[in-house]
Amino acid sequence: MEMDVTSDTVEVLPQHKFDVRSLEAYLNQHLPGFGAEPRAVLTVTQYRSGQSNPTFFLQKGPQAYVLRKKPPGSLLPKAHKIDREFKVQKALFSIGFPVPEPLLYCSDASIIGTEFYVMQHVQGRIFRDFSIPGVSPAERAAIYVSMVETLAWLHSLNVKSLRLDGYGKGVGYCKRQISTWTNQYQAAAHQDIPAMDQLSKWLMKNLPDSDSEESLIHGDFKLDNIVFHPKESRVIAVLDWELSTFGHPLTDLAYLSLFYFWPRTLPMPNGGFHIQENTGIPWMEELISIYCRCRGIDPNLPNWNFFMALSFFRLAGIAQGVYSRFLLGNNSSEDSFLMANIVQPLAETGLQLSKRTLSTVLPRADPKNQLFAQTRRGQEVLTKVKQFMRQHVFPAEKEIAEYYAQNGNAEARWGHPSVIEKLKEMAKAEGLWNLFLPAVSGLSQLDYALIAEETGKCFFAPDVFNCQAPDTGNMEVLHLYGSEQQKQQWLEPLLRGDITSAFCMTEPNVSSSDATNIECSIQRDGDGYIVNGQKWWSSGAGNPKCKIAVVLGRTETASVSRHKQHSMILVPMDTPGVELIRPLPVFGYMDNEHGGHWEVHFNHVRVPATNLILGEGRGFEISQGRLGPGRIHHCMRSVGLAERILQLMCERAVQRVAFKKKLYEHEVVAHWIAKSRIAIEEVRLLTLKAAHSIDTVGSAAARKEIAMIKVAAPKAICKIADRAIQVYGGAGVSQDYPLARMYATIRTLRLADGPDEVHLSAIAKMELQEQARRLTARM
Ligand SMILES: Cc1cc2nc3c(=O)[nH]c(=O)nc-3n(C[C@H](O)[C@H](O)[C@H](O)COP(=O)(O)OP(=O)(O)OC[C@H]3O[C@@H](n4cnc5c(N)ncnc54)[C@H](O)[C@@H]3O)c2cc1C
Repeated sequence: MEMDVTSDTVEVLPQHKFDVRSLEAYLNQHLPGFGAEPRAVLTVTQYRSGQSNPTFFLQKGPQAYVLRKKPPGSLLPKAHKIDREFKVQKALFSIGFPVPEPLLYCSDASIIGTEFYVMQHVQGRIFRDFSIPGVSPAERAAIYVSMVETLAWLHSLNVKSLRLDGYGKGVGYCKRQISTWTNQYQAAAHQDIPAMDQLSKWLMKNLPDSDSEESLIHGDFKLDNIVFHPKESRVIAVLDWELSTFGHPLTDLAYLSLFYFWPRTLPMPNGGFHIQENTGIPWMEELISIYCRCRGIDPNLPNWNFFMALSFFRLAGIAQGVYSRFLLGNNSSEDSFLMANIVQPLAETGLQLSKRTLSTVLPRADPKNQLFAQTRRGQEVLTKVKQFMRQHVFPAEKEIAEYYAQNGNAEARWGHPSVIEKLKEMAKAEGLWNLFLPAVSGLSQLDYALIAEETGKCFFAPDVFNCQAPDTGNMEVLHLYGSEQQKQQWLEPLLRGDITSAFCMTEPNVSSSDATNIECSIQRDGDGYIVNGQKWWSSGAGNPKCKIAVVLGRTETASVSRHKQHSMILVPMDTPGVELIRPLPVFGYMDNEHGGHWEVHFNHVRVPATNLILGEGRGFEISQGRLGPGRIHHCMRSVGLAERILQLMCERAVQRVAFKKKLYEHEVVAHWIAKSRIAIEEVRLLTLKAAHSIDTVGSAAARKEIAMIKVAAPKAICKIADRAIQVYGGAGVSQDYPLARMYATIRTLRLADGPDEVHLSAIAKMELQEQARRLTARM
């Protein structure tokens, strides 16, 4: 269950009581803003959690803080270094990583008996129960995905740029861990446990070669140390940095995976659970796959059994320490005495895991050896989406086509008819919403590929599920690179479907397939930026709900490298100087459901400096992220479109008679049908392969597959549409059938996602590089 402060805190335990007045006097003097309401009374309660460093909730009038201090009494050496916690939180907060803002550190033990620090209280949801009861499987999955994405983010930080000098002890983290926990266990042991000694020896003997790898690690990364947004599934703060250091990142991941192997003889901590179908909780393999994708590393983790065994060993060591502090009478938790019974089973589980090979340590999400298998959750959502399409979306097609036909010249033609808005509400209510974003949907790219295929069968279906371009790409940008303020202001309403957005890169006056040509200028002016430039093909800009544009422009001239001269900035569409010039038809079609494709001018448009995304000169870095998953969504959808076209082709071929034979009885038509089926299967497989690569090795390493499918899908499907039109004769190019529009749509994809030629050149370059590497390896 999620916790609020009152249910999560209790009266301060007798052994942790301190002089509240002395604290108040100190904070009045040293903590800015603390004394804002001098007459408000400072209240102090203690968090139930905080086994190690007691943690307190401080409330003074409207101000809420959290205080962490060392426990009293004699302590294990090198433990409870709260000054380190403060230091690491400061470094992380300064770079925008989600941690509570650290406010003040006090080394003077005379104030409350020990040193302490104070941080901002973050209002959000903490799930103490790992099975997260009371939320839907989709939200549960999204919470887990968001958690593991945050871990991957932490591990991807550049340790040098954090300026945490002297924080870690250099390479050899795993070896030190084994020694530390062996020593601490021996110092605290109340009985002899042979499994602990055996495990300690096995670990020392089987140290991985990669023990030189170093990231900032958390050391106790688990669900109940994370604060989630009050309404969304994203992480807004990671708590309890006591055990953080520079170390091997896989130790954090293995620790997070402990409960997948929790000994059945022990009660599960945190309300525990065993992975079950339909709960939404990802399988360990899925968590690992998401983590590896975010970090861009191979998911076949070598020495995974070592890291799992080390985790159990460490946990057993911690449990022993907690129990020993209980015996000494200085532990903060009420049930510390239970720890005595878990040391041995934990050590034994660690020993068992040490003997297992990688494949048996990794439980598979789907035991069937299926090519590109969806996760269980993916299958469930796909089934629901198919049902929703059948029951609600396809039946509404006629009414929606009529709406746009009737409102051809009216203002209303750029908005949605009420039936689409109604469908959106229904899809949202069923949890079929924002399915494209793993951190919200809990789905992998592979899962989403087959779902997007389904929505691609109908022009307006992606909007119904809030999965439409260009909003998907823009939401990905904000999710990955937006500041907290940008997320609140723009990502949240986009995710709710309250507003839509445009992406403004392409310009009429320069060749935009080479985006380094972009001329639109973004110039710093005091506390703002001035945007000047002309854009076109800004899809969706005419939608009345379009409130924000992500604009790519030039912040630098030639002084830095070509890929550091551009930036992305958020421009609210109602800012003075933003001018919608004209909608651009595509083969005469206006694409009304998508808000059209517009020429937009930015005439001396001033926006606050905080609207810049990520930083000056980082536009291409963002583009790389945006070009990943978002860019193959079109390919995924186009497979569905191809299925629909083939269906239409077959319907006509079996019904129409020419020269005394049904059309399909003419061999050439039969061959068109067969060739189209073959092409669809090929395109689907390559799409799934690209999605699978993004899931497993990340979009950077999947560049080649992404580029290949971007060329292959529209080309093959254009051909299928062309054949279908031929089978329909004159009717095929008329507006009586959807084929002409389908052809127009798919044809634009050979440009809209970057021209084929640009992708082909990139594929050839990568192929030549790979061939050269192979040649060198053979020599
Ligand atoms: C329906 C539609 C929707 C779009 N939506 C958006 C949007 O929302 N936001 C946005 O910013 N843009 C959008 N675009 C624009 C699209 O991204 C650009 O049209 C595309 O990037 C090409 O740029 P360009 O039109 O300037 O063509 P140019 O750069 O002028 O290229 C013209 C042609 O030159 C050739 N060429 C270019 N480079 C090479 C090369 N390296 N090797 C060989 N030949 C080459 C290709 O044949 C190419 O088609 C959309 C386009 C369409 C048609």
